[in-house]
Amino acid sequence: MELLLDGKKVSENIKSKFEEKISKLTKQPKIAVLSLNPNDSNLTYIKRIEKNCEKYKIGFVLKITKTEQEFITELNKAKESKEITGIMCQQPLPRSLFNEINTIPLEKDIEGITHESLGKVFVGEKNINIPCTSKAVMEVLDYYNIDLTGKNVVVVGRSNIVGKPLIPQFLEKNATVTVCHSKTKNIETILQMADIIVMAIGKAKFLKKEMIKEGAIIIDVGINFEDGKMCGDVDFEDVKDKVYAITPVPGGIGVVTNALLMDNIINSAVQK
Ligand code: NAP
Repeated sequence: MELLLDGKKVSENIKSKFEEKISKLTKQPKIAVLSLNPNDSNLTYIKRIEKNCEKYKIGFVLKITKTEQEFITELNKAKESKEITGIMCQQPLPRSLFNEINTIPLEKDIEGITHESLGKVFVGEKNINIPCTSKAVMEVLDYYNIDLTGKNVVVVGRSNIVGKPLIPQFLEKNATVTVCHSKTKNIETILQMADIIVMAIGKAKFLKKEMIKEGAIIIDVGINFEDGKMCGDVDFEDVKDKVYAITPVPGGIGVVTNALLMDNIINSAVQK
């Protein structure tokens, strides 16, 4: 490995601009986090966002709901509120709520998850909220000046928050993009041709050295736990001597995603 793509450095760079951004705001950012029957790990995640909001003096309201109807009522209140600048919906949520989530106004959609936001990502519109994890992948590549022009990029995973929104972002940078998923045949052959691989499948240590070419660049989005230890979708120890560059887990895409979420929260208070 020539280069460890350190997410902490990228996230520090994003966060270094927060104070100046906040000082220029004429309205205070305030987010509403809506959660339906959260479990302990959901609550830990929410607590972390609350702590970050406290650090930057950003308003934070948590609405824990027990029924879908209660969730919809709180969502409507947050949509209509003049004080709330951004709305976050704790995932996963039942399918029956998807239509409701799609009604979050564009300017309050800090996670970039509505069809309107995603549609704008696909046509390459600027200054919109892009799903943070997919944006984190692009930020890391950009921070390390990795030129994507003409590069053969393989994204593994086709979720709406990671895999799919990466397609237009890589195309925008003139890369050639292939997306693989659980029904892809001969995935190893496809991976072996990749200059850059983005792994986002949620399968611990799936990617091994036999599957990649010498000098590939690997971005590991996966968050898994093996024997109580966090690991990615890439077998880091196995591939590290064959790759040119790689993101670690933890300390890679996750920390950048967190910083970008805060960035979207701050930006939600910019008067448009
Ligand atoms: P998801 O919605 O569960 O989607 C997983 C995708 O992986 C699906 O498209 C699935 O294919 C594909 N897949 C599963 N097994 C596969 C296999 N053996 N070969 C090829 N493709 C396979 O996942 P997600 O929400 O995008 O998350 C993916 C991973 O990223 C998870 O580990 C998650 O924890 C992590 N994540 C990290 C962050 C972060 O901040 N770092 C944020 C979000 C997610 P099908 O579509 O055919 O089922």
